[in-house]
Amino acid sequence: MKIHEYQAKELFAKYHVPVENGILCRNVEEAILAYSVLEEKPVVIKAQVLTGGRGKAGGVKLAKNVDEVRDFAGLILGMNIKGYIVDRILVTQAVDIAVEYYLSFVIDRNLRSVVLMISRQGGVDIEDVARKTPEKIYKFVVDSSVGIPDFFARRAAFTLFENMDHVKQMVSLIRNLYRLMIDTDASLVEVNPLVLTREGRISAVDAKMVFDDNALFRHPDIRFLRESTEEERKEQIAKSKGFSYVGLDGNIGCMVNGAGLAMATMDIIKHFGGNPANFLDIGGSSNPEKVVDAMALLLGDPNVKVVMINIFGGITRCDDMASGLLKSFGQIETKIPVIVRLTGTNEKEGRELLKNGPFILAETMEEATRISITHAELQK
Ligand code: GDP
Ligand code: MN
Repeated sequence: MKIHEYQAKELFAKYHVPVENGILCRNVEEAILAYSVLEEKPVVIKAQVLTGGRGKAGGVKLAKNVDEVRDFAGLILGMNIKGYIVDRILVTQAVDIAVEYYLSFVIDRNLRSVVLMISRQGGVDIEDVARKTPEKIYKFVVDSSVGIPDFFARRAAFTLFENMDHVKQMVSLIRNLYRLMIDTDASLVEVNPLVLTREGRISAVDAKMVFDDNALFRHPDIRFLRESTEEERKEQIAKSKGFSYVGLDGNIGCMVNGAGLAMATMDIIKHFGGNPANFLDIGGSSNPEKVVDAMALLLGDPNVKVVMINIFGGITRCDDMASGLLKSFGQIETKIPVIVRLTGTNEKEGRELLKNGPFILAETMEEATRISITHAELQK
């Protein structure tokens, strides 16, 4: 379970991890009031959404006077960041940044341990750093039976700082964040950027925490903060329609009847170098309404560039399925290519019918997959 930055910062503060003063606001008036409470010093206005990359999306802005507070608060509230509409902003004291660092505690499943990761490459996408210059990320494996003793934290702190005052601040920050992670059963604590200010203070300018869902029962105060993510909301809608849906990050939308075939479809797409956008099992009926609902679900994902429909007609006959598809695509408007592979009982009749529809027909799974991948590449 994820929480917002402002919620993570409240937990940080409880654990004596330095964060700037901030006030959560839901409208422009509140933001202006917050600015005066923060003594009209420069503030940063930050969109609070359960996704990263807010800065790049324009959801983090420095405001130096009340007019800028009004303008930026108005601009950011209501913004759509990766499918999340901003309904809350954090108005927080701005800091004068000297250096931006990266720090996180993650669980390494192979090592069965918590790992502390730190880097001088803060503020940027850490995934990029990990890919291009992995040597710039320092990793320290924590022995859970020991935790983080002082010497361990000092060793980590010295990789970033030389000044003893900075090292001391870093040591207590590392130990306190680890304590927070363990106390709350978090699976991730990430500070990007962790900054050194021009006055020589270390401060967590951003805060991200993810919690182990299986441990939430013993943290009612954290469970109380639960808000469903965009993906979870989609999965809920899918469930209410009788589908089983799991969102993924590829570009080939998949509509399949049967969970086993849906798995096989994702495997074969991956096998030929493509990327599925989802797992979707629409179950075993040819009901046109179902197809319309499923298409709406798939097309609601802006990453979807093609749709691959993979149907095995066993109990549901292919000609029935084909009529269902035709009927539903009479109501669907989309420019996205739709590739259909239909096989099983009455497949010839089914395919004959589908020739009248807006489909690209394939006879085998391999053929459908190759066509889908080619089209997905073309749409890039
Ligand atoms: P993210 O883009 O969602 O990770 O949001 P962040 O909270 O990390 O903010 C994005 C970027 O805004 C940071 O990397 C900083 O460079 C910048 N930023 C955030 N707060 C401040 C601040 O108080 N002062 C300055 N100068 N820059 C800030
Ligand atoms: Mn960040």
